[in-house]
Amino acid sequence: MAKIYPQAYFGGSVIPLEQANVSVASSAVLYGLSIYTVLPVCVNGDARYAFRVAEHWQRLANSAKIIGLDMPEWNEERFADAVRQIIQANDPKEDAFVRVSLHCTELVPGVRSRGLATDLSIFLYEAASILPKDGARLKTSVWRRVPDFSIPSRAKVNGAYVNSVLAKQDALDSGYDDCLFLDVAGHVCELSAANIFIVRDGTLITPGFSNDILEGINRRTVLEIAADLGIPAQEREIDLTELYIADEVFACGTSAFMTPILEIDKRKIGDGALGALTAKLQKVYFDTLHGREERYKRFLTQL
Ligand code: PMP
Repeated sequence: MAKIYPQAYFGGSVIPLEQANVSVASSAVLYGLSIYTVLPVCVNGDARYAFRVAEHWQRLANSAKIIGLDMPEWNEERFADAVRQIIQANDPKEDAFVRVSLHCTELVPGVRSRGLATDLSIFLYEAASILPKDGARLKTSVWRRVPDFSIPSRAKVNGAYVNSVLAKQDALDSGYDDCLFLDVAGHVCELSAANIFIVRDGTLITPGFSNDILEGINRRTVLEIAADLGIPAQEREIDLTELYIADEVFACGTSAFMTPILEIDKRKIGDGALGALTAKLQKVYFDTLHGREERYKRFLTQL
């Protein structure tokens, strides 16, 4: 099990993790009615950096808006302050993930969302990647990504992650590291909890927002870095077979970092090793997270 840090934020203050609980009768438990985000806090010597806190706030607020959950007492400033408080209370000496959730704590309200009690929780856990660091093997899933017209992927709703659990477990049961989701139309979508990029003839390509992906903050970061490096990039529909013949494929996300995909459905990708463009982007990305890239310091909150 991942190491979880002892202090949590819940009910508006920092308390021991064991005391940060929601009721078994809450909508959060009964219907999975919580929304969340996960952001990294990275340690570099004496410095500590939280990554793109404003974007994580915005996505959480967007998820609440889509689902119809109320969070009246929360705004970006208070969110950033709570993130700061919990990082300082736990004082991590190595990279960690910060999981922020807004739970619907109303007891037995039935299947509705608006006007109900909510509470924000935050805790830290070790920054262990969900994929093997040196490269992952994927299996195209028999399960399709929940479409925007069923449970929108761009809202990070806890209950919707049963879709990811089904697909990831199936991939693990079959001896792979993760699943490759297709959308309902059969186009490439994402992994269980990471976005996907391919490289073809020097161009970076990733599925677009209308392919039922989560609007990943690292996806956006990779596109921004690529633009600055003059690497051509496209956001468009991708067929499964394009993945098989791509020069490089990689996954990106907070808990997948940037991981090369070396094999999909028993097809070796490129020459089956870390590709040149992936390596180049990976270096800038890791340096960015750890405050070693001056031009991307704007993404970081030093704590
Ligand atoms: N897709 C899904 C389904 C995810 O759960 C995640 C992880 N949050 C991502 C993509 C990557 O998003 P981010 O870069 O914001 O971590």
